[in-house]
Amino acid sequence: MGPAYRLFYDEPLRPVRAFGTKIIDARGDEYLDAYNNVASVGHNHPHVVAAVHRQLQTINTNTRYLQPDIIDYAENLVATHDAALDNVMFTCTGSEANDLALRVARVVSGGTGVIVTENAYHGCTRDVASWSPASGTGAMLGRDVRLVPAPDTYRYDAAQVRELFLNSVQTQIDDLARRGVRLAALVVDSIFSSDGIYPDPGVLAAAADLVHRAGGLIISDEVQPGFARTGAAMWGYQRSGFTPDLATMGKPMGNGMPVAGMVAQSRHLDAFAEDVAYFNTFGGENAPIAAAQAVLEVIEGEGLMANSRDKGDQLVVGFRTILDRAGFAADVRGSGLYVGVELVHDPVDKDPDAALTSAFVNGLRDRKVLTSAAGTYGNVIKIRPPLVFSQSDTDRLLAEFEHVARDLAAGRSPGRSVSVAGWQPPNRDDLRRLIAEELRDMMGGSRG
Ligand code: PMP
Repeated sequence: MGPAYRLFYDEPLRPVRAFGTKIIDARGDEYLDAYNNVASVGHNHPHVVAAVHRQLQTINTNTRYLQPDIIDYAENLVATHDAALDNVMFTCTGSEANDLALRVARVVSGGTGVIVTENAYHGCTRDVASWSPASGTGAMLGRDVRLVPAPDTYRYDAAQVRELFLNSVQTQIDDLARRGVRLAALVVDSIFSSDGIYPDPGVLAAAADLVHRAGGLIISDEVQPGFARTGAAMWGYQRSGFTPDLATMGKPMGNGMPVAGMVAQSRHLDAFAEDVAYFNTFGGENAPIAAAQAVLEVIEGEGLMANSRDKGDQLVVGFRTILDRAGFAADVRGSGLYVGVELVHDPVDKDPDAALTSAFVNGLRDRKVLTSAAGTYGNVIKIRPPLVFSQSDTDRLLAEFEHVARDLAAGRSPGRSVSVAGWQPPNRDDLRRLIAEELRDMMGGSRG
């Protein structure tokens, strides 16, 4: 594999099995997954596995044939969105969905300008990388791309954050216009994941108005906040209180099967389809669609939005208490099971502390809890577990976090042994039995 890939952690992990919120490594050690949003309804959820298995034994072909199951899913998915978003197109990845969304926005608006946040990530195609500043300095930003700062609620109060964000959007619209460039779209991830996790503090609805007034479209990138992640609504834009022209989805949509897509107001797609015939070989095949249908059923059937809200709220309070007690300067923020812990050198200057953040992430990994870091300066611990995170998972995460915080505060490197009140790691025999039970469940498709 080429050298552009990166591995997680100082000591990389070799996972060999996973179920629910647990990952087993090659040594047979069990890890708590507090990071992976793709396996959003839990690793290897038996309802999803059974649906894909059944579909692969039946037919797996493409959108050039009449496929009632794909239409059924399209209707079910569209029904979860605002009424104005009444059409869907399927792709394989979030990058393809965003690539397609901007193609549509360019046709509809007649413009080419794009506004994104300063450390946004929207995908890896050549076009999308040109408006994904988080891709690294090697991914050249396009000439018609303008950046605005994410709403930094740690450094500014509510009124300042709003003024700064809206002024920045308007300034960039005006700057594009001065150079003869019409605005195609503002593209936003309403939880500002790669910028450092700032759940929209109420700035996007007003920004959408500014963009519409300038003739541009709003593209809501739901790859991170979508599918009930924020615990507040099925979609991030619903939490924010605006209806986008286009919304893109991916990652958790098929719980690991490559399925993604874009919902749109049909008036926009009518204009686009006049001159374009769209085909995506694997986008909207039956098997990934079967996975996506099963995911919708699990989110609804297992009450995962409420679970996300409940466990996320506990984590925010728990992290704040632990960090306070250990004497760290930090900001804890989040919505549902998407929590950011920003670490700084001191509470006045708020200088980012990336080294401490890395010590936390690696310390947690050594204690068998998986997280990662986000943000422009890499100083925000990113906690984004599968939505089936249970009460005992929540307790275990907080207990391990407290252990790491105490060790780091005392100047020790976090130890590797696990000795947490109320939680004991399962031994290998228990683990084998657990895996066997999960597999039996899975084969019987008994859950859901
Ligand atoms: N948008 C956002 C907000 C993302 O986080 C990502 C992936 N990290 C993408 C788009 C791209 O999705 P994919 O990797 O499926 O192409």
